[in-house]
Amino acid sequence: IFLFGSLSAALIALQWSGPTFSEESLKGMRVLVTGASTGIGEQVAYHYARMGAQIVITARREHVLKEVVKKCLDLGAQKALYIAADMAEISDAGRVVEFAEKQLDGLDYLVLNHIGPSPYGMWDGDVDHVQWLMQVNFHSYVKMAVKALPALEKTNGSIIVVSSLNGKMCLPFALPYTATKFALDGFFGSLQHELAMKHSNITVTICTLGLIDTESAMEKIKGYIDIPAYPAHEAAYQIIKAGALHQNEVFYPWYTYYYTLIRDWFPYYRDQVIRTSYNYQP
Ligand code: NDP
Repeated sequence: IFLFGSLSAALIALQWSGPTFSEESLKGMRVLVTGASTGIGEQVAYHYARMGAQIVITARREHVLKEVVKKCLDLGAQKALYIAADMAEISDAGRVVEFAEKQLDGLDYLVLNHIGPSPYGMWDGDVDHVQWLMQVNFHSYVKMAVKALPALEKTNGSIIVVSSLNGKMCLPFALPYTATKFALDGFFGSLQHELAMKHSNITVTICTLGLIDTESAMEKIKGYIDIPAYPAHEAAYQIIKAGALHQNEVFYPWYTYYYTLIRDWFPYYRDQVIRTSYNYQP
């Protein structure tokens, strides 16, 4: 308890001594948000819009994107455009970045957030699905990041990667998803080192999220685990804030930081707690 208390105090003090977030700083910023038709991505788009940014959003469903764009303009976005794309298609990742850079005349923030649908439950051995999900949740992120690097270099820009506690801890019932999130953390965490070593002015912000109350997440975990879900609009705000402050990492909600910190301290007890937290009868 003493250790946790001291750590928390030190962290809070560090946060207070850092730069403060100004929503004004995002006015006019050129932003591309993926997976923005629903859930956290949609909320990210609305926050940027309210702050007066210029936004391109993408996902597969054009009719839903159209509605989100309309709302972004109502909220005050300087510009709001959409491009429908399927990240399972290898060429779509590059096409989306090209579109955004052209329409916005450059890019300040690339928010990588989309995920493909994936079953929740005991893994059924479907290897093809793992490969497909790797393309949607991981390879497309890499492709978009690489494509956007030159434009971001010009603007001291940022890549914001929306990841999960499942990218830091092995958890049951979402094996393909967990694999894609570990891949993201590995790739973009290593990219952070290389950019810093090259004295690049691009920041990569990795966002570690716990359970957030989006429709798709709530539907999936129903009956499996009963833990509090945190609001998507607040998760979205924390993501944007961390990106604007050029932080390397952000954890939301608070417990994700402590789980990550103590993950390897008592592996036997950790595994017992994980396995008994879920409702499952073989
Ligand atoms: P949602 O399922 O609500 O949204 C997923 C988005 O991705 C939608 O806009 C969807 O739109 C889009 N999408 C799905 N498939 C494709 C595809 N093949 N190509 C392009 N876009 C696609 O997800 P959440 O908002 O819940 O999650 C957002 C992020 O937050 C993810 O990275 C997730 O891992 C992370 N996260 C979420 C947590 C939660 O509890 N909600 C917990 C931890 C992390 P469309 O169907 O129109 O294509």
